[in-house]
Amino acid sequence: MGRVWIFASLEAGKCGESGKTIMSEDTFETVLTNLGLKKFDVPAPKAGGYTHLFQIVTERSRARLADLSDDYANPDALAFGYAEHRAFNAFAHRTSKDIICLYTTPLRVVWSFFNAMMDNRQIFPWVDDVEVLGGTAPAPKGDLFFLRETPPLNDAEEAFNSIRPRLARALFEVAADFILLHEVGHLRNGHVALLQQRAGVRPFRELPYDEADKLEIPEAQALEFDADGFAVQKVFERVYKENPFAEFSKGLFKDHRLPEDGGHTASWYFTWFAVYSVFRLFDEAMAISEIPLRMQPPAALRQACLLPAVAAMTNRSGWSGLSMQQWVDLATDAGLEAERTITGLRRMKPDPHAYLAAWNGGAFDQIGFYLDTWEGLAPQLAALKR
Ligand SMILES: [Zn+2]
Repeated sequence: MGRVWIFASLEAGKCGESGKTIMSEDTFETVLTNLGLKKFDVPAPKAGGYTHLFQIVTERSRARLADLSDDYANPDALAFGYAEHRAFNAFAHRTSKDIICLYTTPLRVVWSFFNAMMDNRQIFPWVDDVEVLGGTAPAPKGDLFFLRETPPLNDAEEAFNSIRPRLARALFEVAADFILLHEVGHLRNGHVALLQQRAGVRPFRELPYDEADKLEIPEAQALEFDADGFAVQKVFERVYKENPFAEFSKGLFKDHRLPEDGGHTASWYFTWFAVYSVFRLFDEAMAISEIPLRMQPPAALRQACLLPAVAAMTNRSGWSGLSMQQWVDLATDAGLEAERTITGLRRMKPDPHAYLAAWNGGAFDQIGFYLDTWEGLAPQLAALKR
């Protein structure tokens, strides 16, 4: 009863600041409770200036969303948070406001992967090149999920900001950005509204496919592709503007023959590396949980399908001078490196043939399939887009 009252009075704009916080929390928790999920409470900072990773992701996500749309400039306009759960999952939803819920697992998995990867000196050995990057440093000690945001005070603390953890963090930021923006894509491109029009108020979940959502399988697949397309373009837009991997260019060029693209090659390369890693780790989670039916193609094909959109956007904007073939070369190089890294860490044999097969026409067939479905979906979504 109390909850309903707070809701109504807030909608009428009669409640103070503290009430607003309660409502925002309520929306998120109520939705989670209704779905049988448990909210993950982000741990408070630790003494010495250590902030939990999820706190950092929350702040970055909030800033990102406010930047993306005036609709999200007011933090109360959107409920954002985490569900404590072992599935590699997330959902976008809308009740009285937009809601984005990331399950804890995807963020934990990608963060652990990038850190484990950078702990292995055989991966990107040029990173340790003293001449290029100025010295090596030990891997961070202590709790993997607590980070120091304040400037390092001495040599021991300097290790936290050393080159390998820094690259791991920059890769994670791309991955987390993609995961967030994929959900934003479901909201902004009208997917959530379409689902709710057909099936009533329910969340747009990544997993599992549910007939009760009243979306045909090809429709759900095309919507996933659309959300990926939205996310990947926003991710590359940020990467173009911030060029977060520029400092790794020199070392990368020692090890890889890549086309120079106005100082952005390393950022393009590592962005594909991070995006492919998300897809591949998602595949791995699907395989482990034996989910038979999923709406996304396997990692390599998923990546290949997105490449034309990135190449077109970056060329159109004047951000890249690469030809389509150069983009393919760069993206396949990065994807294969990520594939080798993941299989290497898991002590599995990499399968480059399976990876490259996706690029041999498979992507064009798949895009054709999406476009066929899209003809029916586009008119329905047009009125629902924001
Ligand atoms: Zn999705």
